[in-house]
Amino acid sequence: MCGIVGYIGSNRAYDILIQGLKRLEYRGYDSAGVALVDCDGKLKIHKSQGKVSNLESIASGANVEGHLGIAHTRWATHGEPNDINAHPHMSQSGMIALVHNGTIENYAVLKKVLMEHGYEFKSETDTEVLVQLIEYIKLTSSCTLLEAVREALLQVDGAYAIAVVEQNEPDTLIVARKSSPLVIGVGEDETFIASDATPMVGYTDQVIYLKDNEIGVIRRGEPVQVLSLFNNEPSTINIQKLKLSLAQLEKGGYDTFMLKEIFEQPSTLRDCLRGRIVDNCRRVTLSGVDLNQERFKSAERITLVACGTSWHAALIGKRLIQDFCKMPVEVEYASEFRYGNPVLNEKDIVISISQSGETADTLAAIELAKAKGAFVYGICNVVGASIPRTTDSGTYIHVGPEIGVASTKAFTGQVTVLTLLALSVGQLRG
Ligand code: GLU
Repeated sequence: MCGIVGYIGSNRAYDILIQGLKRLEYRGYDSAGVALVDCDGKLKIHKSQGKVSNLESIASGANVEGHLGIAHTRWATHGEPNDINAHPHMSQSGMIALVHNGTIENYAVLKKVLMEHGYEFKSETDTEVLVQLIEYIKLTSSCTLLEAVREALLQVDGAYAIAVVEQNEPDTLIVARKSSPLVIGVGEDETFIASDATPMVGYTDQVIYLKDNEIGVIRRGEPVQVLSLFNNEPSTINIQKLKLSLAQLEKGGYDTFMLKEIFEQPSTLRDCLRGRIVDNCRRVTLSGVDLNQERFKSAERITLVACGTSWHAALIGKRLIQDFCKMPVEVEYASEFRYGNPVLNEKDIVISISQSGETADTLAAIELAKAKGAFVYGICNVVGASIPRTTDSGTYIHVGPEIGVASTKAFTGQVTVLTLLALSVGQLRG
């Protein structure tokens, strides 16, 4: 997990990118960097190991002008956290810059081929391979940046959300995603891109959630274009209204977000329960269960899949569901489940739990369960994230953004929803 941000508009991109990175710093803090294209088309990169504040120190006094830019806060997967491995990464000629969230599984073979064609690599990252591949394709096929990005992504196995800019192109930003989140914020005469919507709060509430295997083309002064990676056809664009306020993102007088989030729990639990306990406290109603009563009545087994903190919530959920519903319940770590060839059929319900709704292993587990015919239910915090969009049904925990890395209010929200779910399904099954 890491955070990417991008901006194209009439304001100074650097200021918006730095603020956006700070809002995304909970996603990764090994290093941070920005690439800016100034009005003359010159591409400049500033990057540094450590937190966003380190980046600000090294960039202070440097030229950070430009109305187009991309930025990254890293959680290293390939190569140690240092200045060289920090994103953005540049192509060999210095013409193309790219930020990436995810992992390129076949980077070693691509790197070998590129090296045979004379490409040299500065970093140990998988990401640098992608930017070099884009340049190689662009030069050898004499095509546009967009065509080169598309062609390169067709050769890549793995997970990515990327943003790409090019020297001499101060009016174009290209993004794409597969298994890593990417949101486009559509403002007036300006467009934002980021790993989640927090960097755009205060600027716009109009957002597009890019889907897997889609490329977004953002050109100054033109409407955002979304294309399918596979057939290059325009996709339907669904602009949604963002329900997130600036106040929800601030620390509210606490020293840290984690402390704030611990003390928020009485109100987040109230929000989580609101409208879900009815008939004078005699009945629980969850629309995700109510709309799928037959599935829950006829289910022969429930499997809870999750990672990390959500997996711990699942262990509590197992006890509750067994107690109240009198049916077998299993808990699986999503990363084990997805590789374990699980035996599932249409009598199975798989409940996936994730705060962000973007946990890659949990998403893969969901796809597998769906392919085997199971009914998949999601318990998630982030509205509109990949998990709620992929599952058959589900429940939001409604605890607001959790910025602290060690989970607090999201965990209690998950346990609360699991309790409601156990009661609701228990009622249904008598
Ligand atoms: N795989 C890339 C790297 O190690 C990106 C990691 C991330 O998502 O921050 O640099």
